[in-house]
Amino acid sequence: PALPSGALALEIKDLTFGYNPDEPVLQQLSLQLAAGRVLGILGRTGSGKTTLARLLLRLYDIQQGEILLGGVPLHQTRLSELRHHIGMVTQDVQLFHATVRDNLTYFNRAINDEQILKVLSEVGLTGWYNSLPTGLDTILGSDGEGLSAGEAQLLAFTRVFLSNPGLIIMDEASSRLDPATEQLIERAVDTLLSERTGIIIAHRLGTIQRADDILIIENGRALEYGARAQL
Ligand code: ATP
Repeated sequence: PALPSGALALEIKDLTFGYNPDEPVLQQLSLQLAAGRVLGILGRTGSGKTTLARLLLRLYDIQQGEILLGGVPLHQTRLSELRHHIGMVTQDVQLFHATVRDNLTYFNRAINDEQILKVLSEVGLTGWYNSLPTGLDTILGSDGEGLSAGEAQLLAFTRVFLSNPGLIIMDEASSRLDPATEQLIERAVDTLLSERTGIIIAHRLGTIQRADDILIIENGRALEYGARAQL
């Protein structure tokens, strides 16, 4: 079955998963995120946060339990469609040796230059864009060579905006950016999350305040879960 368009509801039922089946990394995890809500996930290093994000993208098959996205069991979705509906922003921005345009659209010619420039301006990259020698045709170095960490992050946001997914997963950088960049990113996150479902692997106080629900994971189990206002 096809995934519905727009913000996607997420339901996880009694999920248990281990890279090695004898060593579960996530255990009996359940949650329900209504379309348009934002879930903040907190947990120490190694608690299973990234693993959960990978399972949503179906990088691994789950061994026990069920994940439903937009009401559709994850294993029944087409992989290409699923990855089209989920936007992932991580600290490690995957930029490649190609034009700015291709980096931002993944070669999707249905996205035109006007749309790209609009989003670049929305995330606050117009100044950066104006400094490029040949605009969207400028070739970027591999691994974002020549870009600041903040610029690379904002380009990652631009890319996700342009793909217009119904669920955004964000693994926030814990490292400090300068206050001006930090503010641009905070604003971009707000715009990105409006009218979308969001999961934020949170490292900053600001984002936890933005979350509607909070899940605290400890050793792969939900230690606390519920509406932020009630925790
Ligand atoms: P961090 O905050 O440091 O990113 P995390 O909460 O995201 O940590 P995960 O990356 O999900 O934690 O890791 C959870 C557990 O799974 C850890 O014990 C880790 O060593 C293990 N793990 C992660 N990836 C793999 C893998 N590809 N193969 C085997 N074990 C893995």
